[in-house]
Amino acid sequence: MKKGKVSLFLFVDAMGWELIGRLPHLFAHVAPIRKRLKTVFGYSSACDPSIISGLTPSEHTLWSSYYYSPTTSPFESYAWMRYLPAFLMNHHRVRSRLSTYIARSLGYTGYLQLYNMPFEHLPLFDYAEKRRIYSPGGLPQGKNIFDIMNEHEVPYHICQAGASDEAKAEALIQDLKKGHISLAYVTFGQLDALMHRLGTENTKISQLLHYYEEQFDRIVEIAKQSYHVVNVYLFADHGMHDVTAHYDLQKDINALGLRYGYDYVAVYDSTMARFWYLNDKAEHLIKQRLTDITAGRLLTDAELQSFGTYFPDHRYGQSIFLMNSSTLIVPSFMGRKAIPGMHGYHPNDPESYAALLSNCVIPDDVQAIQHIFKIMLRELNDV
Ligand SMILES: [Zn+2]
Repeated sequence: MKKGKVSLFLFVDAMGWELIGRLPHLFAHVAPIRKRLKTVFGYSSACDPSIISGLTPSEHTLWSSYYYSPTTSPFESYAWMRYLPAFLMNHHRVRSRLSTYIARSLGYTGYLQLYNMPFEHLPLFDYAEKRRIYSPGGLPQGKNIFDIMNEHEVPYHICQAGASDEAKAEALIQDLKKGHISLAYVTFGQLDALMHRLGTENTKISQLLHYYEEQFDRIVEIAKQSYHVVNVYLFADHGMHDVTAHYDLQKDINALGLRYGYDYVAVYDSTMARFWYLNDKAEHLIKQRLTDITAGRLLTDAELQSFGTYFPDHRYGQSIFLMNSSTLIVPSFMGRKAIPGMHGYHPNDPESYAALLSNCVIPDDVQAIQHIFKIMLRELNDV
């Protein structure tokens, strides 16, 4: 017997508004209504917790991954890894496996990635996302949609961490056939990975989107066999910029002759750098140097507040230096080499906006990615 309604929240990582604009008929069968959503400043580590909670990073406290905190750093016991041969440690697969190993041994369920973090500096840092955000109790502060569904005993489907997009689609289909869930939340990561590797213009990007279209058509078709009403929301966390310039920011800072870990600490993310000052001289020299660099600029507290990424304790950095749009820090702590696509630039850039597509009317108060949470709440209330 058919059930009443199922709400499908299908998250396509990095499906930006600009990208979708190039393919006006994409997903027209399952989600003909489109809306541009403002992203959250930062990477997926900032955006994704906001989508599932309706909160800004300042509120749920997850923004960037690594933050200076030598007294709470869990990485002390991994400092020996600095002695492993560089040819091995610079291999991204090796680092990826090591990330999984470290996360497991620390009992973390969150998404831990070592990226290109220098092992000798790791004991200076703590890691923000210790728990899997897509589970009840997943946020350090505030409730996510899974807390709420748990409290109200709403049966839901959530994708398995680390599974392939294909496996996630199949698992969802199996649950839809049983007809026992009211809401599904599934994240698809291949588009983000492919655009980092190839940029946004490559033909493989539109091929992948059309593959997603086939998958989603099939998912919705199967859902309709079990449910009278199938409400579909396809959405992203952010868009993607094509990288057009590189800048070696570390070289500039290293040239100041200050000692890392004694005078200052920095994390060179790929589109921004974050600094902590351990003495006044370092603060003065670094700020002066950063002010002279034209490849990016220091963000003001007022800007960070307007982004919802201001932390009064400056845990994620006392200074945040944002690169100009499409300029990448190379090398950074996220990667040694330049890549063609990146996100995490100014949220007002046209390329930064995310897309939301649906077969339901999208309310006017849904303007930013964290408002998807409101839609989920309404879907749950409106059974
Ligand atoms: Zn990405």
